[in-house]
Amino acid sequence: MNILIHQVEYRGMPVDILISGNRIVRVAAHIEATADKVIEGAGKAVAPGFVNMHTHVPMTLFRGFADDMELMPWLTQKIWPHEAKMTDEMYYWGARLACLEMIRTGTTCFNDQYMNLPVVAKAAQDSGLRGFIAGLVMDPSMKMTADEARAKMDADMAHAGEFGPRVTLTIGAHAIYTVPEPVLRAVAAYAREHHLLIHMHANETEKEVNDCLEQHGMRPIEWLDSIGFLGENVIFAHALWLSDHEIQLMADHGASAVHNPASNLKLASGYQFRYEEMRAKGVRIGLGTDGNSSSNNLDMVEAMRMASLMGKAWRFDPTAVKAGDIFHTATRGGAEILGIDAGIIAEGSLADLVLYDLQTPAFVPNFNFVSNLVYSANGYHADTLICDGRVLMENRRVEGEEEIYSKVGEVCRQLFA
Ligand SMILES: [Zn+2]
Repeated sequence: MNILIHQVEYRGMPVDILISGNRIVRVAAHIEATADKVIEGAGKAVAPGFVNMHTHVPMTLFRGFADDMELMPWLTQKIWPHEAKMTDEMYYWGARLACLEMIRTGTTCFNDQYMNLPVVAKAAQDSGLRGFIAGLVMDPSMKMTADEARAKMDADMAHAGEFGPRVTLTIGAHAIYTVPEPVLRAVAAYAREHHLLIHMHANETEKEVNDCLEQHGMRPIEWLDSIGFLGENVIFAHALWLSDHEIQLMADHGASAVHNPASNLKLASGYQFRYEEMRAKGVRIGLGTDGNSSSNNLDMVEAMRMASLMGKAWRFDPTAVKAGDIFHTATRGGAEILGIDAGIIAEGSLADLVLYDLQTPAFVPNFNFVSNLVYSANGYHADTLICDGRVLMENRRVEGEEEIYSKVGEVCRQLFA
């Protein structure tokens, strides 16, 4: 299938873009080509789709269910009792609702971590999005053994052949306070042996750092380094409370960080994400929203805006976390961490892109599209979305949207009965 996008604004200039199969094959002022589908781009701007680097997609069912609570009562009274009752159907439709929200707000790829990997992976596959799906290794009682963890990872990875090339399976290790040391060692070895990414929460709260200091005499990233856990395949969600030494360790080992500004604010985890310090040391950074129970939306435009404004405010420096930098982090930055050829509009790269309608106040006047996108717009300004060469949204219409709302209504009535 060939798609020709005709005269769309890209970096301030009108261009034609030709997509063949799942790749962008040409970007030029004018392209003469026959195409199966022509999308008129006049009055619109094109940008790479966002890469949401930290989600828990089935938790979309918990959006707005229990807000403004302390963490432990929230988990023990609200989240865990209901999670224990979730059926495959509930996981599936919660994940599909999250995928729909991502499509509507300009995201083409997401990096997820949750339970019930086969069902979440199937939802990603069916949605048309590109998904990196981690099955979760965790045991809050800290009793899990390395053998049990290997059996869990084997069981998850047995599903690897069931999905198309858009879906990649990864390993999820929840956090240092829910995964015992022998299991973390087993996870690191397993991921190395099978060439898998590891997706883990780390240094999210000051308490986590203080507990680790008390228990091991080291900060979390230092301790993870001491057990041989760090590597280029390791993605740390939050990475909020980092010392200079931990940043250096992440740079030395090629581990990456994912900033989740909305979740950090709402859970009162903190706001001083050390974006500029990490960039200066060469740490790879992605942007994420976190799950809908703690972020309440999956809007990457809002995440960019928060990351930039917070990054300026706590430093008292309006030149910090510039619009172009955070836009790069939200697109190409994530794609590079995941090792995919996306997050860029270029010949040969994956056709994961979004058109924005410029005929709306947020984009007028149009001195700088990226600046308007970061500081003035929100994700729902996305108009047309193509992922892997397939049109998933056109003029804000997503096929199958009504069915998703109706199924989510049904499963929520059962879950919260
Ligand atoms: Zn999370």
